[in-house]
Amino acid sequence: MLKGTGVSGGIGIGRILLAENHSLEYEPVQVTDTETEKRRFHNAVDRFCENTRSQAEALRISAGEKEADIMLGHISIVTDPFLTGEVEKLISSGKCAEASFENICEMFIQIFSAADDDVTKQRAADVTDVKAGVLRILLGIEEADVSGAPAGTIICTKEITPSMMSKINKEKIAGIVTETGSTTSHCAILARVMEIPAVMSVPDITDMAKNGDLAVIDGNKGQVILSPPEEQLKSYTEIRERLMRERRELEQFRGKPTVSADGRRYELVCNIGKPEDAAAALEYDGEGVGLFRTEFLFMNKTSVPTEEEQFQEYKKAALILKGRPLIIRTLDIGGDKEIPYLGLENEDNPFMGFRAIRYCLKNRDVFKAQLKAILRASAFGNVSIMFPMITCVEEVRKGRALVEEIKSELKAENTAFDEKIKVGIMAETAAAGITADLLAEESDFFSIGTNDLTGYTMAADRGNADVSYLYSALQPSVVRMIKYIIKAAAEKGIPVGMCGEAAADPMMIPLLISFGLTEFSVSAPSVLRVRKYISSWTKERADKVAEKVMTLSTEQEIREYLESVL
Ligand code: PEP
Ligand code: MG
Repeated sequence: MLKGTGVSGGIGIGRILLAENHSLEYEPVQVTDTETEKRRFHNAVDRFCENTRSQAEALRISAGEKEADIMLGHISIVTDPFLTGEVEKLISSGKCAEASFENICEMFIQIFSAADDDVTKQRAADVTDVKAGVLRILLGIEEADVSGAPAGTIICTKEITPSMMSKINKEKIAGIVTETGSTTSHCAILARVMEIPAVMSVPDITDMAKNGDLAVIDGNKGQVILSPPEEQLKSYTEIRERLMRERRELEQFRGKPTVSADGRRYELVCNIGKPEDAAAALEYDGEGVGLFRTEFLFMNKTSVPTEEEQFQEYKKAALILKGRPLIIRTLDIGGDKEIPYLGLENEDNPFMGFRAIRYCLKNRDVFKAQLKAILRASAFGNVSIMFPMITCVEEVRKGRALVEEIKSELKAENTAFDEKIKVGIMAETAAAGITADLLAEESDFFSIGTNDLTGYTMAADRGNADVSYLYSALQPSVVRMIKYIIKAAAEKGIPVGMCGEAAADPMMIPLLISFGLTEFSVSAPSVLRVRKYISSWTKERADKVAEKVMTLSTEQEIREYLESVL
């Protein structure tokens, strides 16, 4: 059995088709006629854009609108004036188009890959795809053709590209296995959307597999089995059928309200990073957006986006959601989210430093432009404002005072906005948890950010492997913190949701139902699964489970107990 990274779940059983792509290696050369070299670069970019447009059209049919739009996003990357300007500068210094373009792409890839969050890592993967696509054109290398693959094919290749994915007939492809790639790459996302099991980063798979070999791909465990024995093949065939049944079962929850077994109604919304994700939220049957992480609008830029630019983005999301909730979180930078052009100083302790609301309250121009953009967008939908990293009442008061100031300005300018816009906070620091009663007096709603709340409560950085055993939302301290926050919100009569990863954790869901959470904000692909989990609990049963959990002393006891009741 061979190990890789499972990037798209499910079991694929079929015959190997080796799709060889030629190496993109080249000898960099010095150029003297730099103007001709620049033209060569721009011609390659033009051809890349042309190819990308037709591939996006193919994807619109096989994978849907959103995937086609991601593909079209590659055009914005390759035509970004900053990127092309930097490439031209390198060409002017005598570097060939290949080396100049590759160097600049590598610079972006390094910046984006250093981020901890998946959305920025995704940008690194997109730039990697763009880099390969343009280099292929510059080097005149054709790509392997997988369009005519017969039914039951497992594509096996060193690297799969978005353009190969756009040519796939998903009904015919049983699985994909590659030597490179990761969960966040666009091809991995495409494989998930097309529901094709895929395992990436399997070392030397193209040397080991032969055309026509029977193979099993386990996209859940990240395993590949070449020429499986009869027994194993039989057991995998059974697993595949069970998984397909489960998938069909989840589909039954599409278009249904989110209700517990005793008929209590919950709100099930999504976390997004850009306006277009609002469409994906709806495609996955989300009921709105519980967290719009606006920092991503600031990240892939060279300067702060203007109020007008931001307004257009927020308005776009509001219009897509057509009156469904849209909670826009104000800029949450610092910590693991870096924005180079803001020129923030290096800190010894960035997670405890000058980040999020702290930065915004000190940089009023940046904060004001964002709040004004959100307020203007509120005229186009059901928009709320949410402040991140709140630790004390003063921060909420100052933020709200600024919102009021901008409202007066907008009124004076006769600009439309929602006068009753709600202003809430992320409950994601230990301080916010402990003073949830005080903060509830000042906020229209809470959203519990367990990703940070777990870290700040346990004083454990989730990026640090040595302390990762402490980083769990099932730690007794974190469970108590969550319970207390929900209770404080309920006592003050404000709604409370959760937008951290724990909101989609089946072990956490009975506790959240028992404590009285009313809104779950999860990643779009988790929507149907969470709706199903919620539908399996009554308040009475959830209360019994929660009561028992509150008597347990360790994370392990809590985890084992919850596993036993699920
Ligand atoms: C959280 O901290 O749980 C959260 C949702 O915010 P982020 O992951 O963006 O820090
Ligand atoms: Mg957070």
